[in-house]
Amino acid sequence: MTTEGLKQRLFAEIDRRLLEFQGVLRDVVAIPTDNPPGDTSACVAYLARYLKSKGLPADVYEPQPTVQSLVSYMEGRQAGRNLVLNGHLDQFPAGDPEAWSFDPYSGECRDGRILGRGVGDMKAGSVASLLSLVLLHELDVPIRGQLTLTLVGDEETGGAWGSEWLLEHVPMTRGDACLNSEPTGMDQVLIGHKGKYTLRIGTRHGGGLAAVPVEDDAIARAMAVTEALMGLKGWRLETPPDVADAVARGRERAVRGGELTGRELWVADSTTVNVGVIQGGVQSNTIPTACRMEIDLRTPVGVSTQDLQEKVEEVLAGTGLDRGEIDVEWVVCLESAYAAPDEEIVQAVAANARRITGREIEANVSYGSTDTRFWWRRGIPAAIYGTDLENIAVPDEQIRESEFGQVLKVHAATCVDYLC
Ligand SMILES: [Zn+2]
Repeated sequence: MTTEGLKQRLFAEIDRRLLEFQGVLRDVVAIPTDNPPGDTSACVAYLARYLKSKGLPADVYEPQPTVQSLVSYMEGRQAGRNLVLNGHLDQFPAGDPEAWSFDPYSGECRDGRILGRGVGDMKAGSVASLLSLVLLHELDVPIRGQLTLTLVGDEETGGAWGSEWLLEHVPMTRGDACLNSEPTGMDQVLIGHKGKYTLRIGTRHGGGLAAVPVEDDAIARAMAVTEALMGLKGWRLETPPDVADAVARGRERAVRGGELTGRELWVADSTTVNVGVIQGGVQSNTIPTACRMEIDLRTPVGVSTQDLQEKVEEVLAGTGLDRGEIDVEWVVCLESAYAAPDEEIVQAVAANARRITGREIEANVSYGSTDTRFWWRRGIPAAIYGTDLENIAVPDEQIRESEFGQVLKVHAATCVDYLC
């Protein structure tokens, strides 16, 4: 059968069984996976049972208590490439139930919408990934190589015990390409992210009595460091030419979508600095001996971790302070990353999305963050395509029923293109 014939069979099956598939999504929404605490065990148990009932493997990993991830796969009859599907099962906490007009964990369908915490970010996407594997397996689609499913915990808290842990410890999850199903808006495929860093800085001083003050106590030094680091705002290096257009489109889109105002345009392709914590001193009548700061830095595509760390050292040297008395700790280092827009997986997702939605599909770079970065960082081409961005991470989270079916079709068709 041609790839077109295989896709037609998959689309017909999805249309015919959409209610059944919505039922799986609704069951998953009804299992709370708020993070914190990030317990995904009940959700993984449900999905593992479902996969096994379909004759598929379900390997469960738990690198931290209750932070579980699930891996399943189907192998082709011939050798070939390995396509990895990735989604997360944890979600933002529902928060105050009074702020919701329905039960956040009902998984109810109403007026053509599926309701509940996590349905958009990103249980609809994760279930679409799972069902893509199930459908290719049930219809005995003749793939070459392997289709691998990874549904993880810990995404909302950094990914170290979810996707990153799987990539380190379960070799089949690396693959030759990755398709992630985070919400993107149905008219764009995301191919890159900005970098994300947490920097902890401490300053010290020998101390003394306030009656004999000094000008370089720990708080004064922290203020000098803070002011100097604020100067990094807007810093950028040249954007690599193969992704420059996608960065520009991502910026325009964020304005159109109301996520950024015109005044914040620079954020998309420049460094941002947020001094989120300053703690120092004990009381007003002693010279402060210690001050601690925590700073969030986001870097544009084109700035590497080494570039940033060298730049920060340059900035600290510029303060004139004794570097030996400034403690610097890089707590989180997630370098900016992207896939080239002409990668096969990007092109396949965009073509299928264009076909299924009838909309123009753009390849964009976002200033947000997902687990996809862990594949990009390893040089594995990856693309993100999922449901709309409205109504996620807020009370009354919901998606349109039609989006779920469309995303499922795009993902299943992309598996066929890449593996058949
Ligand atoms: Zn997400």
